[in-house]
Amino acid sequence: MTTTEASPDVYARLGVQRRINAAGTLTRLGGSLMEPEVLQAMAEAAGASVDIAQLQAAASRVIASATGAQAGIVTSGAAAALTMATAACLARWDVTRMAALPDTRAMPNQVLMARSHRNSYDHAVRAAGGRIVDIGHNDRGTEAGIRGLEAWEINAAIDEHTAAFVFVATPRSVDDLPMVIATLHAQGLPVIVDAAAQLPPRSNLRFFIEAGADLVLFSGGKAIGGPQASGILAGRSDLVGSALVQMMDMDVSPQTWSPPDLIDRTALKGIPHHGIGRGFKVGKEEIVGLLTALQRFIERNEDALTTQFTHRLQRIAAVLSTGSLIKTRLLGADGAASGVFVPLLELTVGGNAQGLCRRLLDGDPPVHLGERRADAGILTINPQTLRPEDDAVLTRCLIDASRSQA
Ligand SMILES: *Cc1c(COP(=O)(O)O)cnc(C)c1O
Repeated sequence: MTTTEASPDVYARLGVQRRINAAGTLTRLGGSLMEPEVLQAMAEAAGASVDIAQLQAAASRVIASATGAQAGIVTSGAAAALTMATAACLARWDVTRMAALPDTRAMPNQVLMARSHRNSYDHAVRAAGGRIVDIGHNDRGTEAGIRGLEAWEINAAIDEHTAAFVFVATPRSVDDLPMVIATLHAQGLPVIVDAAAQLPPRSNLRFFIEAGADLVLFSGGKAIGGPQASGILAGRSDLVGSALVQMMDMDVSPQTWSPPDLIDRTALKGIPHHGIGRGFKVGKEEIVGLLTALQRFIERNEDALTTQFTHRLQRIAAVLSTGSLIKTRLLGADGAASGVFVPLLELTVGGNAQGLCRRLLDGDPPVHLGERRADAGILTINPQTLRPEDDAVLTRCLIDASRSQA
């Protein structure tokens, strides 16, 4: 009997296969799985009308207390938050600029990035009208040398066209952050930190703000366990407020519009039209879902969850060692030492790792493993999106697929 027959559900009714996801909180597989409490909160939110600006102002209070930032809003994902962060740094409170975006010819529009931080989410910066100027070398990435970005290189790139700096946080890049922030702040310019996937550890909710970031963004649909189409933008209240007004539906009457304090009406010389972020609207359900998930993420016992993940991976490893020739290695979540914050099980497969993945994807149910190091014959099992009841199916599929390879 197939899994879909055993548990008919909304996907089965649509004729869409459920998948076993051991690849992590990938957006193309639907991101995180939400806890029943989050679903319940979203269902409650769906049943009543509410003023979205007021709801975002309430979100701001929750996010401020979770991050230590002055303010925060729920966005429709971290990529959307990056576009809105850029839009805020470009337009500030200037309605004319808000109306012009993404046309930034008449304003400072250069966004600095370290060459080694460039990645495929850059499009989110360009979508707002930011022109990326990349600086420094990628010596560490190419292993051509040991040096990273240096202050003089940033200073040499800053001129009257500079609007902001985007810093992509990873456990490896983060040592450069204090220097970048000090250098930008000395010139009165803001630093946006893309920390979309830098949770856990939970302490990172506060880390980047404490380090002095003007804006930081997190994905809601990754480790936080919120709705897939949610994210967080936190930071300085003037920039967060500008992002909010550029994201809200602005079909308002000038006579009756009464935005929350987060939107500084005195700084606005007029009432903005729908802004660059109107297409990134966030529903009441996503806002409430994200806030509920965030609260649970903050209160969760991180160590207990890590132990639970580790035990499950150990059981999977034990079954694989008796049933197959796959070699396993547990990568413990030893945090800062290794940059691993969620335990992973590495599988070293004999023969062609991509071929094994292909057979797993063609199986019933389809199984997804982490493929980043498939070229080296290594696949990974990430427990974050693996339902405990799927562990046994996963090992059965893996053993079957590895035997059909032999
Ligand atoms: C996942 C990710 C994003 C996008 O996050 P979404 O919430 O899916 O929009 C942006 N930047 C980085 C570095 C990411 O890992």
